[in-house]
Amino acid sequence: MAKNLQAIRGMNDILPDASPRWAALEAAVREVLGSYGYAEIRFPIVESTELFRRSIGEVTDIVEKEMYTFADRNGDSLTLRPEGTACCVRACLEHGLLHNQQQRLWYAGPMFRHERPQKGRYRQFHQIGAEAFGIDGPDIDAEMICMTARFWQRLGLGDVRLQLNSLGSAAARAAYRERLVAYFEAHADALDEDSRRRLASNPLRILDSKNPAMAPLLAEAPLLIEHLDAASQVHFERLRELLDAAGIAYELNPRLVRGLDYYSRTVFEWVTDRLGAQGTVCAGGRYDGLVELLGGRPTPGVGFAMGIERLLGLLEADAEPAAAGAPQAYLVTVGAAAELAGLVLAESLRDALPGLRLQVNGGGGQFKNQLKRADRCGATWALILGDQEVADGSIGVKALREDEEQIRLPRAHLTEWLRARLPARSGSTA
Ligand code: ATP
Ligand code: MG
Repeated sequence: MAKNLQAIRGMNDILPDASPRWAALEAAVREVLGSYGYAEIRFPIVESTELFRRSIGEVTDIVEKEMYTFADRNGDSLTLRPEGTACCVRACLEHGLLHNQQQRLWYAGPMFRHERPQKGRYRQFHQIGAEAFGIDGPDIDAEMICMTARFWQRLGLGDVRLQLNSLGSAAARAAYRERLVAYFEAHADALDEDSRRRLASNPLRILDSKNPAMAPLLAEAPLLIEHLDAASQVHFERLRELLDAAGIAYELNPRLVRGLDYYSRTVFEWVTDRLGAQGTVCAGGRYDGLVELLGGRPTPGVGFAMGIERLLGLLEADAEPAAAGAPQAYLVTVGAAAELAGLVLAESLRDALPGLRLQVNGGGGQFKNQLKRADRCGATWALILGDQEVADGSIGVKALREDEEQIRLPRAHLTEWLRARLPARSGSTA
């Protein structure tokens, strides 16, 4: 027997009853991004593997074990994008968007990581992210954080907290790395297996360990924030001053290191306690070395990405269901002549009332069954076209949500009749 075809594990369908919530969230975020002057950029879902190896770093979780990498038919190594920043930088460089200019950009779409699927962690998930290029001061870091705070306000999320840290300059980080390795080597027997592996490759990531047995060791580890270079320290202090002025509360988290190699100076995460271990809904920071690393002129950059599934998971608990966009009118047509006149009528209504949501009965059927479908789809009115209406140029209108007599109108009056009853936007003529 043939096996039923199913979606790939960790990759979700978004069904019609859920999609209005997605659309509402995306619309709210898009509006806020626009209000700060960010422009949308779209780039492909597949890129050359080399792009992610070089930018994210060879010894990160993503590159080591999470990428969907495959050989194209001609043997090129391609990867489904696991994140957007590297793609965004690649696109900007390719199209000369960073030549002596600032850019404020945003993107949205699916990302792919081969992780163990669980609530809030999927193999295809969705991010909205923003990047700003060419601005090296803490003012833009503060703007990014204010903008994310405004998202939560718009979405009605009260309980996400901001965590903040600075990773300093590359040189400061290299010096700190030596100090940290020496500390961990002196306590080698307290390291778990993951950490022992990371000691040689990516020791800063050990600080990110979620293993409770490691907690006492980590609590005593030297802190990067205490070994910052002077310029990074000034940058960080000014950022804190700006956030204080904007009334944005934060917690300093000296163990916040982020999983990617390309960050420098400011890093931040918005976290919640309501999603278990998958508690980070938005993460970002400054990446001043990345553009140069990918072949461009040295250009400062800062950005963030937020996980849509996790945000929706948070919103689900409190919000009432979003309006599903049910049709306002359902056109019932009985008989071949009515079907033909119905098609013409429906197209002319859509011409005259561009916002009207009109569903036309499909596949014929008895009058009674068509009315049932009209009711089930949630429409406000059934528009009824039978032989008699075709013959005398009229249309029947039956209110489905209220107990009212069915009425009959000259078909030529239907547009005005509907326009008078629709919300302003859908009643306008193009
Ligand atoms: P985590 O520590 O949870 O693995 P991360 O540091 O790998 O997160 P980023 O690369 O910073 O995540 O991505 C930014 C945001 O995208 C995360 O804060 C999260 O909200 C979301 N995200 C990341 N990976 C997944 C995933 N596999 N499924 C759903 N959302 C994700
Ligand atoms: Mg991860």
